[in-house]
Amino acid sequence: MKVLQLGEFGLIDHLTKHLSKGKAVVGIGDDAAVLKMTNDKCQMSNKGKYLLITTDALVENVHFTIKNTSFVDLGYKALAANVSDIAAMGGTPTAAVITLALPAGLAVEKLDAFYRGLNRLAKKLKIDLVGGDTVASPKALMISITLLGEVSPKNLLLRSTAKVGDLICVTGTFGLPAARHYSASVLPPIRLKEAAALAAQRLASAMIDSSDGLVRSVVELAKASQVGARLWEERIPIAPGATLDQALYGGEEYELVFTVPKNKVRDLAGKRKLKKIDQISIVGEIVPLGEQVKLIDNRGKIKEPKTKGFEHFQ
Ligand code: ADP
Ligand code: MG
Repeated sequence: MKVLQLGEFGLIDHLTKHLSKGKAVVGIGDDAAVLKMTNDKCQMSNKGKYLLITTDALVENVHFTIKNTSFVDLGYKALAANVSDIAAMGGTPTAAVITLALPAGLAVEKLDAFYRGLNRLAKKLKIDLVGGDTVASPKALMISITLLGEVSPKNLLLRSTAKVGDLICVTGTFGLPAARHYSASVLPPIRLKEAAALAAQRLASAMIDSSDGLVRSVVELAKASQVGARLWEERIPIAPGATLDQALYGGEEYELVFTVPKNKVRDLAGKRKLKKIDQISIVGEIVPLGEQVKLIDNRGKIKEPKTKGFEHFQ
């Protein structure tokens, strides 16, 4: 069987059988893995916290082209994508390692620019860049960043804990990266403050980031939580210049998609801290598993999603 027959998500499901969760609090299947740090071996600043680990790769001609890309923006974006996964767990990023697979002819100035962009965000968020690996690549440039973070056990937010009746909420707007043809110059939002506030105030029951698109995020959250979902099309915050389809299915958004128990929705609206930071929209609700993930159009008609969102190998 070939990789393309399974697709990205089918392949990840397939590979799951080779992994073991071991002593991890959360293994495969969330935005980041979660490990307990034993107090005597703990190297990090805050004992008792969980360690978060996430990794993301960018490949030339898949995620960007050398000709049309600002490497400063690419560096910023590569780290921001990882930060988004740590944010979606309710955590704080701490340190990163960077792996480069390089064609021998690549201009070093491009890499300097990449690290400048990376550092711009790392400095702002106090993320230490502590190592990596450098290897040759016969053709395409590949960059992989692994980011560590930490979270208090009480603030940890998972994909798997949404309940029937919860409302589905999002930060920001959707569709802009797709409307701009995924130009590297569309810099992702950083939602650390919003995520931390939602976690600390116990408003969210489950959370994921929207890196593969809004519909895909809801599908993944619903799958992990063993529930179904309804998304109300007229409530989706569409970015200026984008279409509804781009907002539903376009990727590279890096917004937060989270669920809130109905009795806490009033709190959500009332929290000045959250209101001040950015817009939060209620876009749907969690329903029983058997009802699957569906869209409701502006005439109240139930519709099947057109696709499940961005997927590699398709
Ligand atoms: P995200 O979009 O949040 O980065 P992904 O969709 O890439 O998440 O991955 C979903 C889950 O599958 C994560 O838990 C991730 O760690 C895991 N995963 C993805 N690829 C692999 C792989 N090749 N081997 C093991 N686990 C993987
Ligand atoms: Mg994610």
